[in-house]
Amino acid sequence: MDKKTLSDIAWDALKYVGDVTSNAICPFCSNATWAYGKTDEGVPRLAWLAFEHKSTETRLPMLPLTCEKCGFTRFHDLAMINSLSGSEDEQS
Ligand SMILES: [Zn+2]
Repeated sequence: MDKKTLSDIAWDALKYVGDVTSNAICPFCSNATWAYGKTDEGVPRLAWLAFEHKSTETRLPMLPLTCEKCGFTRFHDLAMINSLSGSEDEQS
């Protein structure tokens, strides 16, 4: 019944991506450690990817993770993660 807040979704996404992609290797420098940004409240910082179609803009929330060695940044789609990780996702 409780609706997840965006910070709940960000934390869930960070845990899910960490579990599914642990030991992921950076494709550019072969480093295996990744960092996430934090808001002033310490919540994983999200990025918003904007898509424009017929003068309508849609923004999708993404979880960015940055290689600690070369700065390459990868983005994980929160909507996709939420649908993959949320068996307790009760939206009826
Ligand atoms: Zn790297």
